[in-house]
Amino acid sequence: MRKTDTLVIGSGPGGYVAAIRLGQLGRQTTIVEREDLGGVCLNWGCIPSKALIHMASTFERTKHGGDIGVEATGVKADLKKFQAWKKTVVEKLTGGVGMLLKGNKVDVVKGQAKFTGPNTVEVAGKKETETIEFKHCIIATGAKPIEIPGFAYDEKNVIGAKGALALDAMPARMVVIGGGVIGLELGTAYAKLGCKVTVLEALDQLLPGQEPTLVKMVEKGLKKRGVEWMVKAKAKGYKAVAGGLEVDVETEKGPAKVACDRILVAVGFRPITDILDLPKAGVKTNEKGFIATDKAGRSNVPHIFAIGDVSGPPYLAHKASKEGIVAAEVIAGHKSEKDYVIPGAIFTDPEIATVGMTEAEAEKAGIAVKVGKFAFVANGRALSMNETDGFAKVVSDAKNDVLLGVQLVGPEVSNLIAEAALAIEMGASAEDLALTVHPHPTLSEAIMEAAEGVYGKAIHGVNR
Ligand code: NAD
Repeated sequence: MRKTDTLVIGSGPGGYVAAIRLGQLGRQTTIVEREDLGGVCLNWGCIPSKALIHMASTFERTKHGGDIGVEATGVKADLKKFQAWKKTVVEKLTGGVGMLLKGNKVDVVKGQAKFTGPNTVEVAGKKETETIEFKHCIIATGAKPIEIPGFAYDEKNVIGAKGALALDAMPARMVVIGGGVIGLELGTAYAKLGCKVTVLEALDQLLPGQEPTLVKMVEKGLKKRGVEWMVKAKAKGYKAVAGGLEVDVETEKGPAKVACDRILVAVGFRPITDILDLPKAGVKTNEKGFIATDKAGRSNVPHIFAIGDVSGPPYLAHKASKEGIVAAEVIAGHKSEKDYVIPGAIFTDPEIATVGMTEAEAEKAGIAVKVGKFAFVANGRALSMNETDGFAKVVSDAKNDVLLGVQLVGPEVSNLIAEAALAIEMGASAEDLALTVHPHPTLSEAIMEAAEGVYGKAIHGVNR
C-alpha cells in the first residue's frame, strides 16, 4: 500500500497549486488525477476558451481592419488549424504542470479516487487499482456542467463548453441555452466568426448578478455582432427538422421556436462529489451538494480539506488556487486563512472585470457611498485602439473614502482589475487610486480618472 503525508484529489488549478505549495513546504505529497493534469481550466475551460476568443477577435479585427487602414481580403477562419494551435497551448501548460509537480517532488497517480475510510482511498487506474493511505487529504475534484431535461449532451446536436471548444467546423446557426458567463463568452466568439447566435436566458437579464449598467455595454457588443437573445426564456426541447434543428422556447409572450444547427448548453455547474464515496470518510455535503468548509478549508472531518468548485461558488480558477494555497499552508502548520477579495473577469466583448462591492450592494448593506465613473470614450488609448465602449466605476465609503469596489467594462479590462484588488486588499482609499500616477497613454488611466471622479476632479471627463 502506498502511504503519503498529504493526498490531493484532482489536479485542476486548485489541486495542482495546493500540491506544489505542499511540496515547497516540505510535505510529502501525492496527487491523483483521472484525466489529464490541469483540470477543466487548462484542458477545456479557461485556457482553450481564451484561445478561441483570441482567435475570433483576431479574425474580426482583420476583417474589419479597413476602418483603421488595414485592408485585407480573403480572410478566413480555419477551426481545424485553430484546434491544432490550441492543442499546443494546452500541452505547454499541462506539460508545465507535470514538470512543476515533479520539481516539487509530488508523486502523480493516474486514476479515479474514492474513499474507503477516513484515511484511505482506492484509486482505480486504467490497469490496476491501488490503495493509498494518507494523513491529510485535499479534495479538489471541481465541478461539471449541469444537464437539462430534453437536452442530453450527445456531442452532435447538443454540446457543452467542452464540445464548443472542440469544434473543427463552424455551425451556421447556434442556440446558446444560458446567458451566463460561458454562454456569452463562447457565444460572442462564435458570433465574431460569423455564426448566427441566439441566446436563451431563463432569468430577467443576461449575466444575472452583474450590475445592469455593465451588462448594457456587453449587450451593445452582442447586438453589433448580430447576436439575438431572449430573457425570461426557457428552452423546453428540440427536434430535428429539414435543414437543421428547432428549439422550443417558453417565453413571457408565449411559445416560440428558434432554428439552429447546434445547441450549446451552458446553464451552470454542479460539484463533483458523487464519485468519491464521501460517507466512507465521514465527510458531509450541504444541501446544495458542496463540501462545507471553515476558514482554513477544513471539512467536517478535520484532516480532510476541500477547495475550489467542490467547496462552493464562485467557480473561478483563481479562487480555487488561493484556497489550495491556504489549505496547503494550514496542513504544513502555518497560519493561513481564507481572507481576501476575489476579483472576477468575464471575457465578453467588451470585457467585464469587477472586485469588491457594487454601488447597489453597498447601499443594500447600509453603507453610504461615493461613486466616480469614467468612460473609455475619453481615454486616449481606448480611442487609439478603436475600442471605446465601456467605463470604469469606483465605489468608496462616503464616511472615510475607503475603497469598496471597482467595476470595469471595456477593452482588456481583465488585465486592469488586479490594481483595484490590491488597493482593496491594502485598505486603500479612492484618493490613493486617484493620487497614483498612471502611465499615459494606457487604459489604466480610466481607473485613476474614475477615482478622481469620486471628488468631482476627473480631468478628462465632465464630473457629475
Ligand atoms: P452561469 O451560472 O454563469 O450561467 C448559467 C446561466 O444559465 C444563468 O444565467 C442561468 O440563469 C441560466 N439558466 C439556467 N437554466 C436555464 C434554462 N433551463 N434555460 C435558460 N437559461 C438557464 O454558468 P455557466 O456559464 O455554465 O458557467 C459555469 C460556471 O463557470 C459559472 O459559475 C461561471 O462563473 C464559471 N465560469 C467563469 C468564467 C470566468 O470567470 N470568465 C468563465 C467560464 C465559466
